[in-house]
Order: sequence, then C-alpha cells, then structure tokens
Amino acid sequence: MSNLFNKSAHELIGLLNQKQITSVEITESVLDRIDNVESQVHAIVTLDAESAMESARRADEMLAKGESRTLTGIPIIIKDNMCFKGHRTSCGSRILENFKPPYSATVVQKIQDEGMVILGSANMDEFAMGSSTETSYWGPTRNPWRLECTPGGSSGGSAACVAACESIVSLGSDTGGSIRLPASFCGVTGFKPTYGAVSRFGLVAYASSLDQIGPFGRDVNDIALALNLICGHDPMDSTSAPVEHPDFTTFLNKSVKGMTLGAPSQFFDKIENKDVENVLVEARRVFEDLGVKFVELSLPHLDYGIAAYYIIAPCEASSNLARYDGVKYGYRAKNIDGMIDMYCKSRADGFGDETKRRIMLGTYALSSGYYDAYYLKAAKIRTLITQDFKKAFESCDAIFCPTAPAPAFRLGEKTDDPMQMYLTDVFTIPVNMAGLPGVSLPGGLSLDGLPIGFQLISSHFQESRLIQLSSAFQSHTAHHLARPAL
Ligand code: GLN
Repeated sequence: MSNLFNKSAHELIGLLNQKQITSVEITESVLDRIDNVESQVHAIVTLDAESAMESARRADEMLAKGESRTLTGIPIIIKDNMCFKGHRTSCGSRILENFKPPYSATVVQKIQDEGMVILGSANMDEFAMGSSTETSYWGPTRNPWRLECTPGGSSGGSAACVAACESIVSLGSDTGGSIRLPASFCGVTGFKPTYGAVSRFGLVAYASSLDQIGPFGRDVNDIALALNLICGHDPMDSTSAPVEHPDFTTFLNKSVKGMTLGAPSQFFDKIENKDVENVLVEARRVFEDLGVKFVELSLPHLDYGIAAYYIIAPCEASSNLARYDGVKYGYRAKNIDGMIDMYCKSRADGFGDETKRRIMLGTYALSSGYYDAYYLKAAKIRTLITQDFKKAFESCDAIFCPTAPAPAFRLGEKTDDPMQMYLTDVFTIPVNMAGLPGVSLPGGLSLDGLPIGFQLISSHFQESRLIQLSSAFQSHTAHHLARPAL
C-alpha cells in the first residue's frame, strides 16, 4: 500500500488490525518521506532510524502474537526536551548538545510500553523559550506550508513533522502556547492538557508551574488516542493529579447540540487580522449549525497575562537552569581557570541569547528587594486570571477564541524584537496561567494560503468536552484534511 505516511493513526490502526499492512511498512514509508522532505523542513534534531526499525519489528511481533495495544506500531516523534534513555536529548541547546539521559521520561516509557515506534526527536526553541523555533542551537525549522515562514514555537519541529507527514503523531510541550501556536501555524491539531494531567517526569523543566506535555495529530481522533495513552497519575511527578481520566475516544462523534461556547470580548477585541477574523466567523457558524449556543463573556484580567507570564516563567527558568554548570553533564568550556571560571564560561558559551535574557530577567525579578514588586504581583495577577476563567465557565461549556493573532510570520521577522515575539502568545498564555486544557484546531487558510487555527478552552480536567466539540467540528469540516504541497 502506498503513501502510508500521510494517513492518520486511527486509519493505520485499522489496517494493522486487519493485517493489511505491517508496522515495518509504515515505518519505512515514513522514513522515506523524511528522506524526501526533511532537508527542506528541518523539523528533526535526532533521527533514530535504526532503533525505529527495531521497534517496528517488535511491534509487528506484538501484533502477530495478539499482544498489541491500541497504538502499537504507530510512528511518533517526541520533542527534544523529553528524556529518552540512551538517546540524545538536547533541548535545542548547545549546553545539552551531547546529553544522553540515563532514564526515560514517563511519557516516553508509556510510548515504548505501548509498542509505538519513536522515530527521533523534534526541533524546538532552546529550552522551549520562543514562538518560532528560531532560538534552537540546531537552526530554525521551516513551515511546511511556506518554507520562508516559521512553523511557530516552541514545539515547531513536532508540529511541522506532523504537517509534513514526517511522522504520524508527535508530542510537544506547552508552557505559554508552544503546542497550540505551532499547531495553528502548521495546520494540525494540537492539544494542551490540564496542568497535572500528564506527567512531567523526565520533561526538561522550563517553567515548572506552567509546563505541560501534549500531542499533535492530523485530527482529534488521533489526539484522543494519544491522550488516552499519556494522561494519568504518576507518583514520580509531585504535581501530577490523582484523577481518573475517561476514555477520550467515547467523546468522538457525539452530538454537541445544546452545548454553550463563550466568546470573551477581550480576545475578540484584539483581532486585527482579517484572515483570522474570517476563520473565527466561519468556525462560529459551523458550531451554530451544529446547535451550539454562543454567549459573550468578559475576562477582565486577561490583558495582564503576558506581563505576568514574563515575570513568572523567567523566574522559574532562572532557578531551573541553574543546574547547567558544566559539572556533572552537558557542555563544559575548555581553557578554564578554576571552578568559577568554568561555571561562567560554560554558561556563557552553552546558552543562546534568548535563554540568557530569560535567566537575567528572572534573576533580577527574584533579587532581594524586588520580589514583592514583581513576582508576588505577577502571582496575584495569575490568581485573578484563574478566577476570571472560573467565573466564565459558570455560563459556558468551553471558550471559543483565536489561537494566534495572525498566520505564520516570516523567519527572521521578529527575532530582533523580543516584545513582538512575546505578543504572539497573547491568546494562549492565559490558559497556562490558569492551568486549563486548550486545543488548537485547523480552521482554514488565509487568502494567501497559510493555515489558521482557532482555540477551544475548557475548565480543569474537562478535556473530554474539548474532544467532543473538536470532533463535531472536524466531522463537519475538511480543514484538517488540507496538506501542504511539499
Ligand atoms: N513563547 C512562550 C515563551 O517563549 C511560550 C513557550 C512555551 O510554551 N514553551 O515563553
């Protein structure tokens, strides 16, 4: 069977179970595709072709013996910040250029136990700090829809490889929008679960109170399958929530008649881009045709989201990144004169500019005398934003809004202006501040052919509502089926 690389996971699972294809055939097809397009897209940092083929053979054995699980034999790419025992996990940074973790992240272990095929690791902004995948030590990833544009970030490689059919599904992480933004820019479905729904054990920490792992897929059916695999309590992560997650696939293809979506004025007032506006109007019409009611809402503290985020995230980063000092692992500078000199030179050479900017911002904000003025104030804003959402969910099942202010921008367009780069996340950051689940769904193309996503947000641990709404939308539209002409 040809072109297995552009099928969805659920289609491939059907074919595997009917014994029409093997995991080895799928994996070969995807590896061929990588061979053909990766030089243009540059979505992958480390390709583990040999170990992928080995996993595919093992998956076929599991299938033959009747020992397979739902996703056995399906290829996946993980973001380069998820520890994979014995495989390079560089976090897009020179400081971890040759780091091979001695253990695997919980999500990676789950993927392996499932018999999935890990193809390798996807490119990302250094330490997940960025919105364009341009701060990676390995160079930028390109948007498969238009190679001179960014795929978004920081999980740009994970989104681009699903869009370019270099993987069937992938995992990313989202601290302020890093799954949803690249999903929107690359025309794929990207899901950020509730904080605590997916274990962070083995995820290289950026801002621990905001980081969350989630999947990218061609459609929400694949997202539901991936969430079934990765959600769940993990005693190795003290912030992992001891909740029972439902089987998310039972929320696919269900009616949404009578459900209510909230449209926050603070989000809609900010839409300046005509293409984004058109996508939102059209998506709203689809939901209304499906019997969904819309209510207008107000989230009064939303405007402070970015300012508060750029205190909290750098503060946590400055602490988390203190461990990279050249002593036990990672890059160590040569020609050093004593221990302090080694710390300084290793960090100066090992970190890129954006990471250094965050470390300095965070260290300054936490320094003695400034704590109340910056961190404490930001923490209070965070509480107010969380309360705004809580109130909003009293009158709706989920919130409907843009994912990003505009379609993908050109590579280099915002690299010299960090403020402009930070503003890209205006619609996604508040969701992380409140720890809520959010999904970005393909909503159509701009006039000049770039994908545009829209976002749905629900209350804590109500992922199932997002699956239900997303599935209804995708059953009645074809935007998620559009592919770039690579
Ligand atoms: N762009 C945001 C930042 O640079 C969010 C990144 C993320 O979600 N990892 O912090």
